[in-house]
Amino acid sequence: MARAVIDKIELTKRLVAFDTTSRNSNLALIEFVRDYLDGYGVTSELVYDPGGAKANLYATIGDTMRGGIMLSGHTDVVPIDDQDWHTDPFVLTEKDDRLYGRGSADMKGFVATLLSLVPTLVQRKLREPLHLSFSYDEEIGCIGVRTLIDVLKDRANKPRLCIVGEPTDMQVGVGHKGKHTLRCHVHGHEAHSSLIHQGVNAIEAAAELVAKLKEIARRKRDHGPFDPDFQPPYSSVHTGLIQGGTALNIVPRECTFDFEVRPLPGDDVPAIVAELREFAEARILPEMWAVRPETSILIEELSAAPGLDTPKDHEATQLAASLSGANGTIKVAFGTEGGLFAAAGIPTVICGPGSIDQAHKPDEYVALDQIARCEAFLQRLIDRVSVR
Ligand SMILES: [Zn+2]
Repeated sequence: MARAVIDKIELTKRLVAFDTTSRNSNLALIEFVRDYLDGYGVTSELVYDPGGAKANLYATIGDTMRGGIMLSGHTDVVPIDDQDWHTDPFVLTEKDDRLYGRGSADMKGFVATLLSLVPTLVQRKLREPLHLSFSYDEEIGCIGVRTLIDVLKDRANKPRLCIVGEPTDMQVGVGHKGKHTLRCHVHGHEAHSSLIHQGVNAIEAAAELVAKLKEIARRKRDHGPFDPDFQPPYSSVHTGLIQGGTALNIVPRECTFDFEVRPLPGDDVPAIVAELREFAEARILPEMWAVRPETSILIEELSAAPGLDTPKDHEATQLAASLSGANGTIKVAFGTEGGLFAAAGIPTVICGPGSIDQAHKPDEYVALDQIARCEAFLQRLIDRVSVR
C-alpha cells in the first residue's frame, strides 16, 4: 500500500509542535524524524549528548561509502519566555501567506521542507549521496553538533561540502563572525567598609577589567581590522552581565562578569584575552596581592564558535548560488554551525528560508513564498545529483 505522503506544511506543523526549547530534550522530535526516515528505508544514526537526553541525527541517502553534500539544520529553538505572542507558538498557524510558530523560520521550516522531499529523493539514483544532519543545542553556543562533527571528521565518507539552512531569505551566506563567550571571576577579600584597607574590593577590580575590555572594543571599532561586508564592520567586544557584592557596608569579596567577543573571521580572540590577562597581572593583581595574597582573577572560556569565511569562488558557494539563482553572496550577522563544519574540513555556506529578522522574536514566521523557494532550491539540488 502506498504511504500517505506528508506535505511540507504538515511536516512543519509536526516539528513546531515539539517544544524543543534548548533547555528541553529534543528526543521526541528526533525520534519522529528517525521513524519518518525509516518509513522510506533511510537509516538514521543518533549521536547523543553525554546525558542521553538529546541527540543529533545523521542520515545518508545514496552511497553511504562516499562523501557528498550535507544539508544541515538545528532542532532546538529559543525560549518564548516573556514574549508577547498573538498565536500559540507551538501550534503552526497559517495567516496572510505566512506560517507563524516558534522555529518556523529558525529553522524547522527548512528541516520540514527537506524531509518532505525524502520520498522523491529515495526514488532517484544519486551520483553522490546527500546527508541530513539535525543537531541540538545550537542556540546556546553551537554545543550539540560538536559531538556529531567528532564522529564525522575522520570518516572516509565525510561530507565534501555543506549547506546550512539558517534563514537568509534564500540568499547565499558565505561568512559570519565567530562568537566567544567568557566569564571572569574576581575573588577579593571581605572587610567592613569602614576598614577598606583590610579588604580587596572585587567589584572595583572587575570594573577596571570591564573598562579595559571597553578600551579594546574602542580600538577594534576605530582601528580595525575591518570587513565592510559585516555590520558592524569590526570585531565586537562587550560585557553583558555582572554580579557582585552583598551589602554597601561590606567590601565585596566576589564579582563575576560575562563578556563576549564576536571576531571577524581570522581576527585573534586569544590575543584579546591575553591582553586582558596581562593588564590584570600588571595593574590589578599586585595591588590585590599586597593586601591578601590569596585573592585572584580567573578568566574562563564558556563557549567558542569559530567564524565562517568561505571563498566566493569556492565550489560550495558556486553550487548554492546556482541552485538559488541569487545574485552575489552575503555575510550574515548571526553565528551558525557552519564555522565548526568549516573548521572540521567541510566547506560550508548558509542558505535557508525566512529571515533572521523574524527569528527569536514573538510571532516568528516564515513566508509561504520562502518555503516554496526553499523547496525549488532543494529540488534543483536533487536533480543536480541524480543520474538522469
Ligand atoms: Zn538558527
